[in-house]
Amino acid sequence: MGQDIAISGTGIAGLAAATAILGAGRDCVLFGPTTQVMAGVVQLAPNGWAALSVLGMAQDVMLRATRLHEITVRNLTNEATLARLPLTDVYASVARADLADVLEQRIKQTGRFSWHNTSVEEASQTGASVNIIGKDTGLHHTAGLVAADGVAGFGRSFISGQSGSAIKTSLATDKIALRSMVRLSDLPTFFSHPASNLWLGDGVHIVHYPIGDSVNIVATLPKSLARVEWQARFFRHNTPLQPLADPAIHWTATPLPRSGNTVCWRRGNMVLAGDAAHVMPPHLAQGAGQSLQDAACLMQSLAEYTDVSKAFAAYARHRSGMVAKIAQKAEISGKIMAFSGFAGRLRNAALDLGGNHLMQNWLADVWAADPGLSRQST
Ligand SMILES: Cc1cc2nc3c(=O)[nH]c(=O)nc-3n(C[C@H](O)[C@H](O)[C@H](O)COP(=O)(O)OP(=O)(O)OC[C@H]3O[C@@H](n4cnc5c(N)ncnc54)[C@H](O)[C@@H]3O)c2cc1C
Repeated sequence: MGQDIAISGTGIAGLAAATAILGAGRDCVLFGPTTQVMAGVVQLAPNGWAALSVLGMAQDVMLRATRLHEITVRNLTNEATLARLPLTDVYASVARADLADVLEQRIKQTGRFSWHNTSVEEASQTGASVNIIGKDTGLHHTAGLVAADGVAGFGRSFISGQSGSAIKTSLATDKIALRSMVRLSDLPTFFSHPASNLWLGDGVHIVHYPIGDSVNIVATLPKSLARVEWQARFFRHNTPLQPLADPAIHWTATPLPRSGNTVCWRRGNMVLAGDAAHVMPPHLAQGAGQSLQDAACLMQSLAEYTDVSKAFAAYARHRSGMVAKIAQKAEISGKIMAFSGFAGRLRNAALDLGGNHLMQNWLADVWAADPGLSRQST
């Protein structure tokens, strides 16, 4: 049996898990695409940066990030400002590709890894040895497997015992995110303000924030409203957002899931991480941040226990407890953001009256650094 630990999936969660395994002094074997288009941008809240700090990569990622200093909430219909929450702790946007690049460079610096450009097809355990079958590479024996292969990958289905189609059905919603990146030079200066902007409409919401020399825009709406010329409908009558009605702007559609924690994160020396363990809708901007927290916890658990099954058990116990309430809050936030009619007006009135206080209270435990993680210097 090898002493190295395998990872299936080379998205943010898989790459972060690899840096954790290497950081704990073990070697790792990655299974997943060696080149992939990592589209889009994520916001990382203070808890995501705290995790990067534990992993020793906060400074390197910050060099590629754009600091945001405020969350501004506005009414999409009448343009009124409902709340402005100053961001005193570090909060920033970063392109997924840049985040992945920093993680990948850290992995490559160690030289203690192998990377198979293939998917994991099967896994089993014999004694303390995990037997992994890669689609194009045959059989591998490792001391453990971290399945960070996303919501539709091998791991979630294998460890939870649910079929792929049952997982898909249980997570499906009627919501869609339409995403676009537009250069700041093509837009009014309003879009360059270093803030995360949330516009609340009737059953829809729009988020935009700057990232480098561009602005990332995400519109969340029911699939039934994402018809031809939806942009005109939402942006044409809103003065600051009017430029986004331009039909030349290209939008990419992503169906949004509901929150879905697996009850079981571990099967012997195999454990889940990232969306495979805790997919959630992006309404609190926490999915990638939670994957980084998974990695920070994994590193500390592997440093604490030489026995992989004990380390994975400690990791799974801690992270499944921590992430459940975040996923639930992401779900509730989405429901509140989707209010329409009277409920929407009530929501806006409440935000207008005490928005800062309400948001601070709602986000305090989401953004708090995990008390189980001891922070390092960067
Ligand atoms: C519109 C939108 C906005 C978002 N905004 C934010 C935000 O602002 N902040 C934030 O923190 N999060 C945000 N998220 C969430 C975040 O993007 C995800 O939580 C995160 O990217 C998940 O990473 P992952 O590595 O777990 O999964 P994935 O990105 O799905 O990666 C899984 C990887 O596994 C590979 N794979 C699949 N099957 C196998 C197999 N059998 N063997 C090997 N490899 C396999 C895939 O090819 C892929 O490389 C957002 C999500 C959406 C949809």
